[in-house]
Amino acid sequence: MINRDRLRIAAQKNGRLSDPARDLMSRAGLSFRESRDRLFCFGETQPVDLLLVRDDDIPGLIAEGTCDLGIVGRNVLDEQRLERAAKGLPPAFQEIRALGFGRCRLSIALPQDMPWEGPQTLAGLRIATSYPALLDDWLKQQGVRADIVMLSGSVEIAPRLGKAEAICDLVSTGGTLAANQLREVVVIHQSEAVLAAPVEALQDERAEICDLLLRRMDGVMQVREARLVMFESPRDAVSTVLALLHESETASCCALDGQADWLSVQVIRQGKLDWQTLEDMKRAGARRLLVLPVEQMLP
Ligand code: ATP
Ligand code: ZN
Repeated sequence: MINRDRLRIAAQKNGRLSDPARDLMSRAGLSFRESRDRLFCFGETQPVDLLLVRDDDIPGLIAEGTCDLGIVGRNVLDEQRLERAAKGLPPAFQEIRALGFGRCRLSIALPQDMPWEGPQTLAGLRIATSYPALLDDWLKQQGVRADIVMLSGSVEIAPRLGKAEAICDLVSTGGTLAANQLREVVVIHQSEAVLAAPVEALQDERAEICDLLLRRMDGVMQVREARLVMFESPRDAVSTVLALLHESETASCCALDGQADWLSVQVIRQGKLDWQTLEDMKRAGARRLLVLPVEQMLP
């Protein structure tokens, strides 16, 4: 293996994952000098360079050692993992973090008027997809034999063109399916953007850089969901109010000047708070409730 003292990370050049991936990297303290061709971007703040490519190329770049990390949809990673396995190749890349954006699902959809009676409905049908390996894997698990029609794009129009009876495609809102008179009947794979890395651990300086980056990305992801909740509560109601938040261990309480029976409480909580919870807290005795997003956190 070649020794390198700079880490190379691959991300999608143009597409759904481009902006959120750049945002994650910038929040983790990475900034890049944009080159004219925008393919290779030199890292200015850390020894981490960025390669902007098509998402489908990312697993291969990791497998051949051109890149050390990649931000890519789990759908692409798992598809290529199964493809490699089918060819008898050893595993070369793995998912090391789920990144919480680019969420979608790989689903089977049928024309709206076609009945669905479980996976056996698909027996003998032609199913159009860009994910033949994931579909084949699922069909085998279900014990269903069907014909897989590989299409690299515009899968949703295959039934209308008479190329297939069913499709297996990525769905996020379902809008595209509905617009094509298709009905989602079963989810075969859940996806989101993930951080991919080689199966073999990095040995040289890159290992340390990678650790630093992972720690920062973990921090960014934790903070994204975190809320600082502040309120005042009568002493004897604090535990009841905190129970509504399910976060009692991390709360810090301090006395309120001149009001012996009242405490000021601060607590970090994961996940958004709905109005219902705030109203329940108020009913339990809390007042002056304040919910704030968290910018940075170093436990
Ligand atoms: P490229 O030119 O890089 O090959 P692409 O057309 O394959 O781009 P995009 O449409 O930008 O890719 O999708 C990239 C990833 O975004 C998908 O692989 C998937 O993980 C995720 N994604 C999230 N929601 C959807 C959706 N509704 N449809 C397709 N992909 C989605
Ligand atoms: Zn692609």
